[in-house]
Amino acid sequence: MALSVKSIKGTQDVLPNESYKNRFIEQTLLSVAENFGFKEIRTPVFEHTELFQRSVGDTTDVVEKEMYTFLDKGERSITLKPEGTAGAARAFLEHGLFNDTMPQKVCYVTPCYRYEKPQAGRLREFHQFGVECFGTASPAADAEVISLANEIFEALDITDIKLYINSIGCPVCRKKYHEELKKYFEKYKDELCETCLKRLEKNPMRILDCKSPVCSKIAENAPVVTDYLCEECSDHFEKVKEYLNELNIEFEINPKIVRGLDYYTKTVFEFVSNSIGAQGTVCGGGRYDGLLEELGSQHIPALGFAIGLERLMLLIDAQEIGYPTENTCDIYIAAMDESALKKAMKITNDIRCQCISAQTDIVGRSLKAQMKFADKIKAKYSMVLGTNEIESNKAVLKNMDNGEKIEVDLENFADNFQEIMLRDEMKAFEELMKE
Ligand code: ATP
Ligand code: MG
Repeated sequence: MALSVKSIKGTQDVLPNESYKNRFIEQTLLSVAENFGFKEIRTPVFEHTELFQRSVGDTTDVVEKEMYTFLDKGERSITLKPEGTAGAARAFLEHGLFNDTMPQKVCYVTPCYRYEKPQAGRLREFHQFGVECFGTASPAADAEVISLANEIFEALDITDIKLYINSIGCPVCRKKYHEELKKYFEKYKDELCETCLKRLEKNPMRILDCKSPVCSKIAENAPVVTDYLCEECSDHFEKVKEYLNELNIEFEINPKIVRGLDYYTKTVFEFVSNSIGAQGTVCGGGRYDGLLEELGSQHIPALGFAIGLERLMLLIDAQEIGYPTENTCDIYIAAMDESALKKAMKITNDIRCQCISAQTDIVGRSLKAQMKFADKIKAKYSMVLGTNEIESNKAVLKNMDNGEKIEVDLENFADNFQEIMLRDEMKAFEELMKE
């Protein structure tokens, strides 16, 4: 079919036969976070461009190349959020949540927009599940946040994923490190890409995150940040490692992880998988003790992480983990004529009021076609209403799984149906236990 309007490059539709997977993922992640005391926060999909320039950072790939920025009709510069932390931090400050008990733990599922070259695991509209923990400088918080990410992967039965951690220090120790890095990279001035040449002046650590093969080759032998940590940062990192060991969370130290965004301090981490190709980083996060100050507040230490949901789903497919089966239709009520349809609609509605899924014929199909449809939507029960059923107020309820039929009263059927379903489920469970 020649469509005159197509979707935008780098975006994905989630079709009705797939959306239960997304819902399952989102619900699982939110409920694991809830067990850790995180509450959902929802912030707008666009913000003032300045918010991201200040927080994500002017010298990052995200701000330099990837943002969807436009002027609105009032000539204000607006940006579609490229990540979730900045908006959550802004809302935390704007609504004075810092006046409440600390820490404030929030989580979210949000679409994000980055103008990147679309490929597997890299989209222009993607989704992040993120958590932020505001108001604690303790290394125990770092360990807790990392263990939350770890628990998410465990809850989803994901195995091929590895945790890498690093500490990128604070502005104090980073000053010395930046000097050393500059000295090192200046030797390769002729080979570095144009962007990295600019970074050399403004923020040499960014070069370590460059994806060009030449720059990353040069970066291989660059000085490592952990050799330059001040005493406080070094102690903090040691404690984080101790707590992770205590929690039996396996990790590897990778001094090359600097993360793509400017606001990180001290602990940074990534969960990386080898199962999904080049875009293997499923989760990235860390501490950002300077971010809230950068946005104009007093000093409030904080940390968080984000998981890319599309990459997470690629991983679930790659590892052939699968999803719980989709919730189908509990009962399909077929109608043989107009007056039966009226009765069927009433009963269907009463059943739905009990939070049970029910469907009837809203197409005008023949009885045979209705029964075919009931099969197709995998209805667990079916029932046919015709003149006899309406007159006697009784009908035959068929269990589509085992073919069992019972006669039921149509009076109060909606109230009784749940009990019938429960009884059948118990019976099926007992059979299963006997095997
Ligand atoms: P990458 O190095 O792959 O570009 P990043 O460092 O830019 O990742 P973050 O800003 O830390 O990524 O975002 C957190 C997570 O969001 C990533 O680990 C990834 O799972 C996901 N993500 C980032 N960019 C994209 C994208 N363009 N498409 C799909 N998922 C993405
Ligand atoms: Mg990126």
